[in-house]
Amino acid sequence: MTAPVVGVLALQGDVGEHLRAVEATGGRAARVRTPADLAGVDALVLPGGESTAIDRLARVFDLHSVVAERIGAGMPAYGSCAGMILLADRLVDGVAGQRTFGGLDVAVRRNAFGRQVASFEEDLDVPALAEAGLGDGPVRAVFIRAPWVERAGDGTEVLARVSSEPVSGAVVAVRSGPLLATSFHPEVTGDLRFHRLFLQMVAAA
Ligand code: GLN
Repeated sequence: MTAPVVGVLALQGDVGEHLRAVEATGGRAARVRTPADLAGVDALVLPGGESTAIDRLARVFDLHSVVAERIGAGMPAYGSCAGMILLADRLVDGVAGQRTFGGLDVAVRRNAFGRQVASFEEDLDVPALAEAGLGDGPVRAVFIRAPWVERAGDGTEVLARVSSEPVSGAVVAVRSGPLLATSFHPEVTGDLRFHRLFLQMVAAA
């Protein structure tokens, strides 16, 4: 079987890190900047960055509706941080007029961790990774002005929660069908198990 082509939405944010993570985990990585680029991929990563900027550029580059349509039609997608925001059906604390691509039946709060804990790291327990055969051991999660999942629909599986105060219990990783989202940035730590999990989801789709 040839490796799937996994696009990385390349409008703004940490695109290069995700391209390298996709290549390192067995996908063929491709930058997506145009509708024609999108047509050539089997799956899409929405990177961390600034969701308001990515939203604006997606409209400028005529990508907004085609990305939303592909996701709606079942294309696997993985969003980290700003990418989680872009996958959410409902957005809390977005800027006026901010839109998402949607697809994931969750409400996501932007910049959810507030000023004191705007950026932090924590080791997360993620049983789904071991269940997927990706090894035990916590995931070092890097949060940078991160969102969290405020409410998740019935079909959405919670994969990880923060355990440290004052934000313990906050949902920071979810999966639903072919969609995966994390509040944190696995692409910056070198622990690529979430990308491996996504590649498994792409292969299964
Ligand atoms: N706070 C950013 C936003 O609203 C997300 C931050 C990130 O991706 N590191 O888009």
